[in-house]
Amino acid sequence: MPIKNRFAELLPEITAWRRDLHENPEILYETHRTSGIVAERLRAFGCDDVVEGLGRTGVVGVIRGKTTGSGKVIGLRADMDALPIHEQTGKPYASKTPGAMHACGHDGHTAMLLGAAKYLAETRNFDGTVVVIFQPAEEGGGGGREMCADGLMERFGIQEVYGMHNWPGIPLGQFAIRPGAFFASTDQFEITIEGKGGHAAKPHETVDSTLVASHVVLALQSIASRNADPTEQIVVSVTSFETSSKAFNVIAQRVHMKGTVRTMSPELRKLGQERLTAIAETTARAYGAEAKVNYMKGYPVMINHGAETEFAAEVAREVSGDCAEAPLIMGGEDFAYMLEERPGAYILVGNGDTASVHHPEYDFSDEAIPAGCSWWAGVVERRMPAA
Ligand SMILES: [Zn+2]
Ligand SMILES: [Zn+2]
Repeated sequence: MPIKNRFAELLPEITAWRRDLHENPEILYETHRTSGIVAERLRAFGCDDVVEGLGRTGVVGVIRGKTTGSGKVIGLRADMDALPIHEQTGKPYASKTPGAMHACGHDGHTAMLLGAAKYLAETRNFDGTVVVIFQPAEEGGGGGREMCADGLMERFGIQEVYGMHNWPGIPLGQFAIRPGAFFASTDQFEITIEGKGGHAAKPHETVDSTLVASHVVLALQSIASRNADPTEQIVVSVTSFETSSKAFNVIAQRVHMKGTVRTMSPELRKLGQERLTAIAETTARAYGAEAKVNYMKGYPVMINHGAETEFAAEVAREVSGDCAEAPLIMGGEDFAYMLEERPGAYILVGNGDTASVHHPEYDFSDEAIPAGCSWWAGVVERRMPAA
């Protein structure tokens, strides 16, 4: 089962869907047009059931095989949302919405899963049920979490779930995957250091919040270098540092910092939060200031399940002859929530030598469509072989 001929035939049609989505990007949960198109197509393909409004603007389609005696139900998930980036590709189908852009290829993901749904609804050459899942708000909004909270897995009886993301740098038509932790947890923090402002010429009458905050930034580096096991991964980055004074001669009353903590292990994630809070609070106290920490939990670590990962790689090898071992990725992915609820796997499909995702010159490669669609179809037909 290399590339399926049907997807070579469908390529112009799927490409047209993809470019239309690209031209009309929608951010977070505002995927109203996109969701409407997805639902309309799924109905036109003859899906047995189409449900809208799960996880606010998510869409689900159900396709039953020629037989369903196996009792198996597999979920296939794509994301639909764009990013608040101003597109600079110069492509004829570039975003028509200033400040919004499909810079992560979710237009391609949606189009590929629609293509697979069309094929699966036409052929139904499997024994079981496929649930195609189109989620909003992957880019920081937790759309996957919201769909799970709306009972996605239970309502459709999903037993296993699979996801796919295009990846620049992996050759077109090739795949990469890894078992276990794959994408990082992505927490965010704000630290406010409250000192005592005053005249820059009279530091002894102040509590210099800028000096205190600087000590905090330095001390936070000890989490990765001295608290974490050096064979594991953790990133602690302070990304914003704003004092309440813009003057040359004023010691600021307050400093506000922002940043992110990313890890590949739930235990290290807990340690990171504990150490960050303790370091900020006690360092500030040591200098007579006060620290307020607001720690905001983001996506959990995305962990691929062993057996399903091996299966996903087998299907990829059938499609493209090979499946590489993917590196750890310190970005986040809210498919993590679905993999917390059900066994499954997430795979990368090559986008070729393009700008990286989230770059204003990035574009999804339509040449990746046949491989991506063939992988989706292969997962279904191999996991639930026709009776
Ligand atoms: Zn992204
Ligand atoms: Zn993405």
